[in-house]
Order: sequence, then C-alpha cells, then structure tokens
Amino acid sequence: MGRVARESIEEVRRANDIVDVVNAYVPLQKRGSQFWANCPFHDEKTPSFTVSPQRQTFKCFGCGAYGNVIDFVMEYEKLDFREALEKLADRGGVALAFEGGRGPSREERSTRAKALDMMEWAQRGFTANLARNDDARAYLEARGLGGEVAERWGLGYAPDEFHRQSDAARKQFDEETILATGLCKKNERGWYDFFRGRVTFPIRDPRGRIVGFGARLLDPEAKAQKYVNSAEGLLFHKSKLLYGVDKLAQSQRLKETGRVLLMEGYTDVIAAHEAGFDNAVAPLGTALT
Ligand code: ZN
Repeated sequence: MGRVARESIEEVRRANDIVDVVNAYVPLQKRGSQFWANCPFHDEKTPSFTVSPQRQTFKCFGCGAYGNVIDFVMEYEKLDFREALEKLADRGGVALAFEGGRGPSREERSTRAKALDMMEWAQRGFTANLARNDDARAYLEARGLGGEVAERWGLGYAPDEFHRQSDAARKQFDEETILATGLCKKNERGWYDFFRGRVTFPIRDPRGRIVGFGARLLDPEAKAQKYVNSAEGLLFHKSKLLYGVDKLAQSQRLKETGRVLLMEGYTDVIAAHEAGFDNAVAPLGTALT
C-alpha cells in the first residue's frame, strides 16, 4: 500500500474532534473558550495543558508540547504516524485512500471492514436517536448515566420500531455486511431491526473499534429479555471480549496496581470508571472462566 492520500488525512482530522479525543485520555475542564488539564506529557500539579476547539490543536505552556489530534494520539499512545492515523480513521469511520490508486474500493474491501463501518454508522444513528428521545434520556438520567456520562460512553437509543434501521442500512450497505453486523436480521417476511426500544451501549475491541452493542430494555413492563447483546458473528465474540477492555491501555490504576476490576455489567463498569476506577471491565453475559 502506498502513502495515505492528503485528503484522507484531512478527513480523519475532521472526523475526530480534538476535544473528544483528548478527553477520552485526559479529562478536560472547560475554562473560557479553551479546555484545560494537567499535562499528560510532563509532571505537574496545576494545569498548563490546553486544547483549543477552534484551532483543533493542543498546547502545553509547561513543556511546549503542541500539535493536532493526530500528533496527540502519536505522542500519547507512542504510535507512528500511520498507526495513529489508522486508529483515528477507525474511530471516525473514515475509509483511508492511498496515493497512486485509491486503495481498496468500497466493493473490494472485506466484509469485516465494511461491517466495522456499519457499526460506526449505527452508533451515530443510536446517539442521534437518544438526543431526540426524552424517555430514553430520562431513563439514563435517573440512573446517573445521562448528559456527559452518556456522551463519554457513547450511549444511544434504538427506537421501538421494526424497520427504521434496516431500511436505512439497506440503502448503504450490502446484504452480507448488514448480516455480519447482527444489527438487522432477515426472516421470511423480510428485514427487521434487532435492537428495539432499548438503550444501547457500544462494545469495543481492545483497539477501540465497535464490534457489537449491548442493549437494555427501556420499558420495565415489556416481556422481552432485559439485557441483550449483539449475536455472535463475524465481529462479535462475547467470550473473547470484555466491556471496557478498550480503556485498559490508558488505565492509571492498572498501571499502578497491575489489576483489573471485574464488574457484573456495563452500567457497573461505567459507574466504576466515573468514580475513578479506570481499570473496571465486565464480561458480556457469559459465566466467568
Ligand atoms: Zn506539558
């Protein structure tokens, strides 16, 4: 594969707001038009590290560290340019193009790559639905999972409808890809949405890619199972995944204690992280082995 095309690099930068990306590693505080934190690149007790949403750059007045979102991920994760770019491309759902030929075309890309794209597409849909649905937001709010917590964890909502997602997906993705995600299913009467009337929790692999969803039923009176996960498939292997595993690489507590904290479910993991236990993970509906 050749060099990544310049437009792709721009596209990756546009798809990854620096405030969101940095905030996932270093909790930022808004002050004026800037965001502040203790600098992750040098030792300090009062913040001199700033992120500018307008310029989409970070700058440390203490050690002079400076750059854009790609520089930040390179520096923080100790990745080379290409690795950081690929990571952010995954995160932003950008398909990289290469100089000297566009690289693999949409059709030629593997079903796995296309299914990962569809997961990001679905995630954008779920979070947009949550923004529009008062009941779902109230449900999360009542459990301490609203507002910024919901944003940090990418919580979303799948409306109680059978065809909304599958109709939209079929305009953009081929059948094999859609089935590989497990998000939409097909029976003798046609396509239907798998997650309905549920709050959604994206489940990420260790590289941070969405490979499935967990979902909690909103209506306490409904007869269906309270929690469901994506079905086993091309991307989702629940016995090999832990909810929260993508956070472990940055876990301060794991670094300090060498331990992970095993919780029962997604909401426990979120609560633990929000309370400062950044080494919390949970198995996905299988007995612990
Ligand atoms: Zn610094």
